[in-house]
Amino acid sequence: MPTPNCVFLRLEGPLQSWGDPSRFNMRRTMEAPTKSGLLGIVCSAMGLSRAAAREVLGELNTLRLAVRADRPGRRWWDYQTVGAGKGLLCANGDRKTGAAGTLVTRREYLSDASFLAVLLGEEGLVSRVTAALQRPRWAVYLGRKSCLPAVPVLAGEGTFDAPDAALASHPWAGRPGVAEKPPRSVTVLTEWRGAAGHAAPGDAEVWFDAPISFDPPVHHPRFVLRSEAPIAEGPSRLERMPAASRPRADYRDAAYRKARAARLQHDHGLCTFCKSPATTVQHVTYRNAGGSEGLEDLRALCRLCHDAVTMLEYGLGMGLDRIDPVEPRWRESIMQKRDEIVSFRSLESRRRRLAPGEVE
Ligand SMILES: [Zn+2]
Repeated sequence: MPTPNCVFLRLEGPLQSWGDPSRFNMRRTMEAPTKSGLLGIVCSAMGLSRAAAREVLGELNTLRLAVRADRPGRRWWDYQTVGAGKGLLCANGDRKTGAAGTLVTRREYLSDASFLAVLLGEEGLVSRVTAALQRPRWAVYLGRKSCLPAVPVLAGEGTFDAPDAALASHPWAGRPGVAEKPPRSVTVLTEWRGAAGHAAPGDAEVWFDAPISFDPPVHHPRFVLRSEAPIAEGPSRLERMPAASRPRADYRDAAYRKARAARLQHDHGLCTFCKSPATTVQHVTYRNAGGSEGLEDLRALCRLCHDAVTMLEYGLGMGLDRIDPVEPRWRESIMQKRDEIVSFRSLESRRRRLAPGEVE
């Protein structure tokens, strides 16, 4: 077995936030884990203070980073106040009071995202990073202390010539326990390293996220190449997970009948997908099935859209969470399935009109 020269990290959790050079009251996130954020995880796992980290950052920066956005997540804001009612200290020593004294800050997160990152470099360094992630001394978090990982961050090691080949060796990660079709391709952000004197490709992006120091924060630029990687056929995580059994909705249950009626009224009696008169109410999740359904668990649908959604779900072998016809990502497949059903039905009715033995 060759000595591993790369270590894989899985960055997945309800929220993550990979700060760009943020202003105090407006903290945004980059679209994917940054080198600064990932080396921060490594230093935290090694138990290095911000000051001590400065000694090893030079070496850690020699690791080449590539990140694959298996699920890019959705951007989400939260709203925070600082110093409410307590009087915020001003630069001149005064304290602000009243509403004007409250500082409003906004923080941005990626919600429900999953990234696969690989750090590739010298074997000895890689084994130290792997060992630290195996037994982290300090907490490991996804960009901000409030962003806890949902799965172990250390996702294995390996020996590869290039980061892209390393990433391709790992299957795409869907949501655990949720059957969904993998995308045809995913975005890969690969650190570009050229031999001395070589100019970076024209389409290389410059990311100011190679950490030189965490305290004070100092970052150097690095070149990042963006590409689309096809998802290889093969077992993805979702295919290896058994689909959850589907609880039956009890139509006689009074609470469920009430929830259905409430949703129908909420949708003004119209199909949430095509706005035809609704004939049924469909579960988009069975997590609260059996009478505890809320408005968000149900959608009013017409017969055609209901059949299209049900057929799609059947084909996907879905678990508790079903197709939500309101979500844009299902739009194309529902349209297509509706068309299929319509053409199939017109063919059927034509056949029925023909006498036995008669040919068209
Ligand atoms: Zn419809």
